[in-house]
Amino acid sequence: QPELVGDFGTLMVWADAGRRMKVRANAETPLDAQTARDFGAEGIGLCRTEHMFFDASRITAVRQMILAEDEKGRRAALDKLLPEQRKDFTAIFEVMAGLPVTIRLLDPPLHEFLPHQESEFAEVAEAAGVGVEVLKQRAAELHEFNPMLGHRGCRLGVTYPEIYEMQARAIFEAACALDVAPVPEIMIPLVGTKRELELMKEVVDKAAEAVFAEQGKRIEYLVGTMIELPRAALMADEIAEVGSFFSFGTNDLTQTTLGVSRDDAARFLTHYVDKGIYARDPFVSLDVEGVGQLIDIAATKGKATRPDIKLGICGEHGGDPASIAFCEKVGLDYVSASPYRVPIARLAAAQAALAKK
Ligand code: PEP
Ligand code: MG
Repeated sequence: QPELVGDFGTLMVWADAGRRMKVRANAETPLDAQTARDFGAEGIGLCRTEHMFFDASRITAVRQMILAEDEKGRRAALDKLLPEQRKDFTAIFEVMAGLPVTIRLLDPPLHEFLPHQESEFAEVAEAAGVGVEVLKQRAAELHEFNPMLGHRGCRLGVTYPEIYEMQARAIFEAACALDVAPVPEIMIPLVGTKRELELMKEVVDKAAEAVFAEQGKRIEYLVGTMIELPRAALMADEIAEVGSFFSFGTNDLTQTTLGVSRDDAARFLTHYVDKGIYARDPFVSLDVEGVGQLIDIAATKGKATRPDIKLGICGEHGGDPASIAFCEKVGLDYVSASPYRVPIARLAAAQAALAKK
């Protein structure tokens, strides 16, 4: 590991001896996964699959899927995406060599995937074999006034389960083909109710059974959820009946708890910090009294239902030392940070553990 040299390396070894929480990384490319491992990450805590869908080579198929009129049209696009996704997961599993990998199923604000240019519509029209005007009409129907509270996360999986089915199939096909099989942790985004998670877990389990039957081989896997809506935190005892892990998505949990847009807050946040309304930027350092209280409630309720529930954090706060100290306090099992923050997270996790002694 490149950083494990000289005094810094020694410091990291001491830190690792002192910490309790594991440190994972947020990564969705083999390069990021490798960087994370080089910095000492012990797994991937968040693989955002929608980032894989933006790839230039497949965006037309993705748009075809989003704009399809019916399930048949979506499946035609998904058939093109399955081998690509399988390759994505194989590459990441190979780099992570048996370490845990949490893969989050598609969580796209739909507007980010819609075509805008005339040429983009033309490409989709050709791929899907439908007219440009039909596609434009469909894109207009999909317009949302508030996409971050709209048809995203598992709401997409509930409406179009075949998308999550394809992703789950790609994960299991990739994992089954490897000698060092990982234990994939399949994560459902933006869950607010137990029933949503139940429905999505059924889709994943069904895909798993189909692949295991085809391959004549079974592997272990987990299905869990992001906790990024206040309702999910408050109902965590029920949700834990279905999910075997929680990962706190504190970017959205901050947005939804404070009622502050994560994309638009910059305009007034400095005033709020200057005037002492927020002690710090709540999207950088956890709002311990508010968002933190929800995390505490969810952790306690989750453990009450399922004592061995795995608890982690994968929002930006997972790389912030003050927030990491809070995660130690409420007993999370791991923090997940962007690859370049992994050493800081290792150090902060150790400081937090030592301060608790
Ligand atoms: C989150 O909401 O904290 C999260 C990790 O998911 P994303 O940032 O992709 O919405
Ligand atoms: Mg989120």
